[in-house]
Amino acid sequence: MIGDMLHNIFGSRNERELKKLRPIVEQINALEPEIKALSDDQLRGKTQTFRQRIEQGATLDELLPEAFAVVREASVRTLSMRHFDVQLIGGVVLHQGKIAEMKTGEGKTLAATLPAYLNALTGRGVHVVTVNDYLARRDTEWMGGIYRFLGLTVGTILHGLDDAERQDAYSADITYGTNNEFGFDYLRDNMKFSLESMVQREPHYAIVDEVDSILIDEARTPLIISGPVEQTGDQLYDEMKPKVIKLKRHQDGLMCTVLEEATGRLEQDDEDDSALDLLLKVKRGDPKNSQFLELIAGRPGLKKKLERLEGQLSTQKLLPEIDQSLFCVIEENNNIVELTEKGLNLIYGGQADDYIVPDLDAELAKIDENDELTSMEKRMQRQKAESFYKEASERFHVTRQLIKAYWLFNKDVQYVVKEGQVIIVDEFTGRMMPGRRWSDGLHQAVEAKEGVKVAEENQTLATVTFQNYFRMYEKLAGMTGTADTEAPEFKKIYDLDVIVIPTNEPMIRTNYPDVIYKTEAEKFRAVVEEIKELHRKGQPTLVGTISIDKSEKLNRMLAKEKVKHEVLNAKNHEREAEIVANAGQKGLVTISTNMAGRGTDIVLGEGVKDLGGLHIIGTERHESRRVDNQLRGRSGRQGDEGSSRFYLSLEDDLLRIFGGERMSSIMERLGMEEGEPIEHRMISKAIENAQRKVEAHNFDIRKHLLEYDDVMNKQREVIYKQRREALSGESLRPTIEEMIRELSANIADTFGDEEMLPEEWDMKGLREAVYGQFSLRIRMDRSTADGLTREGLAELIFESAMKAYEEKETNLGAEEFRGLERMVVLQVVDNLWKEHLLSMDHLKEGIGLRGYGQQDPLVVYKREGFDMFSQMIERIKEDTVRFLFRVQIARPDDIAAKEKARQEKISYSHGEEGAKTPVRRAHKKVGRNQPCPCGSGKKYKKCCGK
Ligand code: ADP
Ligand code: MG
Repeated sequence: MIGDMLHNIFGSRNERELKKLRPIVEQINALEPEIKALSDDQLRGKTQTFRQRIEQGATLDELLPEAFAVVREASVRTLSMRHFDVQLIGGVVLHQGKIAEMKTGEGKTLAATLPAYLNALTGRGVHVVTVNDYLARRDTEWMGGIYRFLGLTVGTILHGLDDAERQDAYSADITYGTNNEFGFDYLRDNMKFSLESMVQREPHYAIVDEVDSILIDEARTPLIISGPVEQTGDQLYDEMKPKVIKLKRHQDGLMCTVLEEATGRLEQDDEDDSALDLLLKVKRGDPKNSQFLELIAGRPGLKKKLERLEGQLSTQKLLPEIDQSLFCVIEENNNIVELTEKGLNLIYGGQADDYIVPDLDAELAKIDENDELTSMEKRMQRQKAESFYKEASERFHVTRQLIKAYWLFNKDVQYVVKEGQVIIVDEFTGRMMPGRRWSDGLHQAVEAKEGVKVAEENQTLATVTFQNYFRMYEKLAGMTGTADTEAPEFKKIYDLDVIVIPTNEPMIRTNYPDVIYKTEAEKFRAVVEEIKELHRKGQPTLVGTISIDKSEKLNRMLAKEKVKHEVLNAKNHEREAEIVANAGQKGLVTISTNMAGRGTDIVLGEGVKDLGGLHIIGTERHESRRVDNQLRGRSGRQGDEGSSRFYLSLEDDLLRIFGGERMSSIMERLGMEEGEPIEHRMISKAIENAQRKVEAHNFDIRKHLLEYDDVMNKQREVIYKQRREALSGESLRPTIEEMIRELSANIADTFGDEEMLPEEWDMKGLREAVYGQFSLRIRMDRSTADGLTREGLAELIFESAMKAYEEKETNLGAEEFRGLERMVVLQVVDNLWKEHLLSMDHLKEGIGLRGYGQQDPLVVYKREGFDMFSQMIERIKEDTVRFLFRVQIARPDDIAAKEKARQEKISYSHGEEGAKTPVRRAHKKVGRNQPCPCGSGKKYKKCCGK
């Protein structure tokens, strides 16, 4: 009752909308005689006229009636089809950026030519989106007749085209292609290194055919471009791990002795200061030593004393005396870890010098001042020194992180190991934080310590949901035979209204009520019996199944009964289109999954009308009513005779899982016998309810995906915008100068503590920080710092950095240098963005596993995602500037080669039809004994496949 009322309200709203369109249709029709009278050339000339009028300020709405009349006439002359009035209505609805629901066979392909032509007149490109390559090609060729006649260009985006071909196709006035191709091109463009190599223009207007399939069914999984994970430095962790273990063993032994002695002394004399020295040694050698902690806990005041002593020795520069007997020193509070000479000798034997991070500053000065070297030699030596420095400091960094992992991080306290993963434990709440990772290599160090490796072969390089891709178009429109049931979702997610267009001829297909059997076996037997009967009669039958499995089952059963039939599994779109086009011929039986042969018109054969037209048998209800309607809709097109019926069983998934108690009780009441089908309104109602439940559930999945993608969408927009700006040719120098200013201020904030006198500042730390960021040696010591403020310090760093920067620029030449800036920004942005995507993946995966009490995981995801993003933005600045000050000029060939190598390893994925989770698969599978694709020359199993 309420449903009927609602329907009336919606129905009348739809009618009102349609009514508004009538006058436009009349206008178009009224223009027909005049347009008909034009010669071919005159008709074609209209395109030029329209374009001029647009230039003079005419709107597309003003041009619409005449433009539509022109397209209709061009269609008559080229394809011998005259757009029906309902197709004109559909065309207007599409032009308005709405969804036109037009039943199967109503001629949506032709209807789309009207708005496509009109909107292409702007010169900004129109995309017509199809569900597969075959349809993209077919529709280009077919409708291309009209467009070309009118002087427009048409292109097709197909799988396997190269960039030049894609650019061609995209520069056409109208471009046909699949949703996947459009989406991947968008992602790929945003990974390019020049604007010229991008293939897409600004997204302007898209008409999406079979819009429910694309924007709803396929929207459950995102598009993903993935590539192999580059974990540089991984081998360093493996290399250093045994050394750090050795270090730990020795230090532990030492601590044991020292502790014993200290305890002994304390037992003799509570106030013995020599015991304090020993305890300080332990504090600096193993601050988390449990015996030590116990001892301290048992003696109030001891902790304070130790801290005081440490402070005193520190100011008196006497700490090294304590430290020299240790292998390494850990200052927990200051997050400092240092290897002592003893430690270095332990792990590197006599060759410690080869591993020690050199004083690059001094090295470089030595090279600079060496007059015996030519400038070329100086440059080479400088490079050598720098690369040695880089390697040594990386090794040193890894070592430090490993030491932290071994000394400061305890399993089941700071982290747990679960299913091969190191999961952080929140130190305040004790909750596990799956998905979060410690930064700066620490997480890797803990992983190395625990001997677990994140088994990640591929990582996301770029990803977008269809929802977010298609929302970028300035105007979006869609068409399909089945949209109405999903109207709320279209409205909510895409802001698309659905208008139901009346059919050209009244629909006379009979939809018989469902019949329902107790078991699946009985159901299939009944289906086969019915097929046999129809076959004998000569009435063509199209049998829909929900899976390839079920198709095969039916295939075998029919073969046994010697009923000739065809089976379609949506594997070869082109061939299947041919077969399905024939499905309306007398006596034919065609079995098809719901994807197969989509978009192909089934014309009835001779004499078939008298037999009742095409009969549709559904062998199972689908998860959504919409898909059932798609199947039914294959019969009864353009006022044809036709009929449909669904066969169900209580064993069908839908009934079993979602039917619930109610279904069983109805069954019981109706008294169900073996082999006896029942037909009942109540059952159809119950099934509809079950479908609604599933539909709502699936909507939730899509909404969920979108909510999460929305967080990233904003970030993606920021990053892609930055990339584009970098590529736009505008000088990046002001941006970089701004970065340098900010970073200088950051350093000054850290070291220029205004609570202290400048001469107390940590000059060494300051110099190192400046060097680390700007590769710059600033002359700064206690005397030069005299009287400096924090701001003065910032200014001083900034000015020195800018001076060095300008020098670099002069050396290379301004133009080259601008190119270099661009290159560096792009590489840094891409690298960090890629890393960020990985972290966001981790975060998302992990967030579902965390227990949040009252907190909404989405809120947590948003907050933490934002934090991570902000951190990334900071790192972009740091890394960009660091690289720019440090970079060695690579030859362009190197860059091209690198880019090529990267391209070769990339793979594209979208959930397979029907799949529910993102699928990531490598480009192609490599046999274990084949050569490794990385080009090492080793067998795969011995190399990357290890
Ligand atoms: P839909 O996509 O709406 O299911 P199609 O675009 O595949 O339908 O068209 C179905 C059939 O109708 C096609 O064979 C086409 O040739 C035919 N058709 C469409 N419009 C017209 C028309 N105005 N006049 C004659 N035939 C038409
Ligand atoms: Mg179609």
